[in-house]
Amino acid sequence: MYGHQDGTDGHRYHGPFDRWATLNIQMDSLAKAHLHLERARRAMDHTSVVQSVSNKQWELWISNQKTTKRIEAELYDDIYCVKIQHKYTTDGYISAIALPLVSWEASGKAMTNSSEAKRRFISKHAANCCGVNKCLNLWEWKDENGTIVATNCPCCDFAVEDSRHVVSCSAPTTLAVWALELDKFSEELYDLHTHPDLHLALLLGIKHFKGLEPDLEELQDLTPEARQCYHDQTSIGWTNLFFGLSAIRWGEAQQEYYQSRGSRRSGIQWQQRMLRLIFEIHHAIWDHRNAMVHNDPEKEQAKRNQLEAAVRAEHSRGNEDLLPSNLHLMNPACHVILERSLPEQELWLRQIRAARRQGSANSRIHMAQERALMAAWLQLANHTAVFRL
Ligand SMILES: [Zn+2]
Repeated sequence: MYGHQDGTDGHRYHGPFDRWATLNIQMDSLAKAHLHLERARRAMDHTSVVQSVSNKQWELWISNQKTTKRIEAELYDDIYCVKIQHKYTTDGYISAIALPLVSWEASGKAMTNSSEAKRRFISKHAANCCGVNKCLNLWEWKDENGTIVATNCPCCDFAVEDSRHVVSCSAPTTLAVWALELDKFSEELYDLHTHPDLHLALLLGIKHFKGLEPDLEELQDLTPEARQCYHDQTSIGWTNLFFGLSAIRWGEAQQEYYQSRGSRRSGIQWQQRMLRLIFEIHHAIWDHRNAMVHNDPEKEQAKRNQLEAAVRAEHSRGNEDLLPSNLHLMNPACHVILERSLPEQELWLRQIRAARRQGSANSRIHMAQERALMAAWLQLANHTAVFRL
């Protein structure tokens, strides 16, 4: 529809207008006039009633202070920032002194960029209002036998299962899933061009938290920035990382790394992507827990058969394309690998396939070097032949 803005050559269009264009311009002017008037009124009059719904006037007061501006943002901050942070500290999830270390911006971006289902999953688990046994017991949820669900964790069977226990559970079957998921996580961090020391600090921290890496000696070899990231995250809590609370320094250190390499990528974007990968791990752990509860023998057997075929195929290839440093992967006999849990078999498959890719890339480089040497030698031989003639 035409209006004043639709002129050509940088000039405003002044007509002639048809009926629709005239109405469009009139509405635009009226709306602007109303906006200016409303802004002026609110700026001058702090006692005025700020909103009305169905002709009923109401005021918004937060902590004995009347709110007259940015109502939506002020309400959001009060509910989602102040009250949530207060609840986290009073419930003992995080200490008050660690709160300023948290990147709420990265957390917000990670949630905004996640699917609705993933956002719901993280929110419900962060609020500890989800399908864990502690909640089901509270809601008097009954199992297929008509018995109220017990509060025990279905994986380790001795702890009360709340949403935080799902992340911290150290049942052996759960640890196998963690090892598999962390392997995928590590691969994704490479793809995000993560600073090698931040990469190591993140993996060390999570593995140490899960008891998969008791030794922290490698921490001493990291840059001071990476060590600081590790310590900040330890103050915030590694469990909290899985609910979206990551240290501000991760993003800052990654930003400096990008800049030092002349990259225009953003540290905060890296951090929100890293958090979304963390959410993926959290979700995989939850899926595994659900599979333990709602065990489907047919589905499990199908997966077992599929993995068995893949393991046998890879094992029968023997040492093909393997570098000497990766030969240990072929040490266990095939039947020993097949006796492992399904996540452990999956992990072995990922490792052996990655090792073969590494070996084959290495042999390609080697072949290229051989070819270059051969070409140089042939050129030299030709010159020598000409000289002799
Ligand atoms: Zn458990």
